[in-house]
Amino acid sequence: MSTDQNDLLHRVSHGWARFSTLLVQAGRDEEVPVRGGYVNPGIERGSTVLFPSLEAMAENGRRAYAHESIYGAMGSPIQHRLERVIALIEGGVHTQVVSSGLSACTTPLLAFLEARSHLLLPDSVYGPTRRFADTMLARMGVETTYYPPMVDASGLTALMRPNTRVVFAESPGSHTFEVQDVKMLAAVAHAHEALLMLDNTWGIGVFQPFAHGVDVSIQALTKYPGGHSDLILGAVTVGQEDHWKVLRDAAIQLGQVAGPDDCWLTLRGLRTMGVRLERQSRTALQVAQWLRGRPEVARVLHPAFVDSPGHEFWMRDFSGASALFGVELQDDLSVEAMRDMIDALALFGIGASWGGYESLVLPTTGGVRRTLAGSMPVGPTFRLHIGLEDVADLIADLKGGLEVLRASSAG
Ligand SMILES: *Cc1c(COP(=O)(O)O)cnc(C)c1O
Repeated sequence: MSTDQNDLLHRVSHGWARFSTLLVQAGRDEEVPVRGGYVNPGIERGSTVLFPSLEAMAENGRRAYAHESIYGAMGSPIQHRLERVIALIEGGVHTQVVSSGLSACTTPLLAFLEARSHLLLPDSVYGPTRRFADTMLARMGVETTYYPPMVDASGLTALMRPNTRVVFAESPGSHTFEVQDVKMLAAVAHAHEALLMLDNTWGIGVFQPFAHGVDVSIQALTKYPGGHSDLILGAVTVGQEDHWKVLRDAAIQLGQVAGPDDCWLTLRGLRTMGVRLERQSRTALQVAQWLRGRPEVARVLHPAFVDSPGHEFWMRDFSGASALFGVELQDDLSVEAMRDMIDALALFGIGASWGGYESLVLPTTGGVRRTLAGSMPVGPTFRLHIGLEDVADLIADLKGGLEVLRASSAG
């Protein structure tokens, strides 16, 4: 193995290794058991919360911003504990846990936008976030402009309007993996009194949003924090108290709450996220490097590679990578042949989402929507998520798949 390759393997995984102590410790010092106790918190279920007096109930109601609940719909003790842990991990001030990663995108948009506001979304944004802007937000009188994810400061400045309230970013972008210049986006947004919201689902742990000027950080806890493909949950984190009041009010008004079992599973998943990602990010890079050497492959969309869009920002801002990347095939290969290859893979499940312990594949070409010219790769493209399987087994499976691809495209 060359030094370069060792360097790169270190680079994709070292942030996860350094992060592991925090993941094990976060939030566990809250109750030091006096006479012994379990390592993990218990699960309390409830709707009604009882108080000794009306005044005690009113006092608790006034503390809703301090992660207290007068009623189960405002969150359970385990939800509030998970919120404190996520805030620590993201380096923010407060976190609101919501019912899904998608509601982690829609809730802050509803909280901070109003009729006649203008919203900037990257063309590479997660599909359901695009749909929300194009339908519900449009109906409420919010206008959305799509910007190229690799926009520069003057390009973005030209798109800002007096009523631009939110610049939304997602880095790297869904399916096409453009790493955005978040520092620049923050500077331009703030110069125009807009907020910068970031969907940080890919980079949780290896990209510190608030250190880069982000105001609202979003993540799908469904992915790596849950880590086992058995729950749906989201989190919204803010870096300032005044933003927290707006977000918390919106979450309460929308009835955003998460079930205690899912919060408990997410807390458990977080404890092993560092070691899972340390392994998965390395295997992903090894698979990506193998694919990169194959004649059928035009480009691998992995931020660690120089020819992947925004590689320089990944080098500058990230302390690691996750295990999700894209593969662009040569443009003389057909989408049909790619689909035959995907059907032929044995170890890669065909299915939505990612972040679990298992490998997954989905076509990008034909599966995602873009509205700006030049936003899509030229050749047929698919997305891989790399799980905890053995790297040699995954490569052998892909090798078989590429043989099917060749046979199908010759036939
Ligand atoms: C999966 C995903 C979401 C949505 O998360 P769900 O929990 O599945 O609703 C949002 N943003 C990104 C970037 C995602 O990958």
